Amino acid sequence: MKIAEVVEGLPPTEKLYLRDSYLRRAPTRLLRVVKEKGSRYYVVPTSSIFHPLGGGQPSDMGWLTGEVKFEVKKALEGGRVIVLYGKLLEGELVEGMEVTQELDWERRYYIMRLHTAGHVIDRAVSDVIGERVSTLGALHGPPRAYVEYGAPIDSSLLREIEERANKLLDGRRVLVLEVSREELPSRIYGAPNLGRLPEMDRYRVVEVEGVNAIPCSGTHVKSTSEIGSIRLLGIEEIEGGVRLFYDVK
Ligand SMILES: [Zn+2]
Repeated sequence: MKIAEVVEGLPPTEKLYLRDSYLRRAPTRLLRVVKEKGSRYYVVPTSSIFHPLGGGQPSDMGWLTGEVKFEVKKALEGGRVIVLYGKLLEGELVEGMEVTQELDWERRYYIMRLHTAGHVIDRAVSDVIGERVSTLGALHGPPRAYVEYGAPIDSSLLREIEERANKLLDGRRVLVLEVSREELPSRIYGAPNLGRLPEMDRYRVVEVEGVNAIPCSGTHVKSTSEIGSIRLLGIEEIEGGVRLFYDVK
């Protein structure tokens, strides 16, 4: 089943996770229900607390409850419409029905801590290398989180980068800003890869105060004190750079 077919003709989904990453539960209405096979369905809610796969962040998981019980295995995005894919456990899915969406909060909160930690590691890498290093990709989530950089980083520097990253976690606020394209250059700092940014009227910038301010659509913790500590687990060469594995504790 193609996502483009599932979302055809539907309006953009209200992305509740962009406004409040701590929202674990919220009512919504099902705009479309498409059966894949057996008890597997694609459903499109009017609003979503589920962050879809993308921007270096894995998909959220959770449930839809009410007259039904539906297990959300992944959230996808087609155009600006969010599609929840999963398994119907009880009841019958009907278009127009009201349900309560509920996150697998343990997983999401872990992802939030990892994502903010990823931004801090970006800065720590630049500090230790002595120049701004471009990021190639990332997975801020399980099973094994990583960030990729377009520079050769020797494994002998890992401990130094880890130490620098942990020093930066001294109770800093994490702010989410909405800025226009004109304002963007003056509101960001320590942000790599601006050439990769899509053209938009407004940008969402995530600032870890004093560390960096980066265009990002991910879900973050409010303070670096929620991260705990960062551990760098290893480094691997990839095409054009390195992949750095990490975790938070
Ligand atoms: Zn990010």
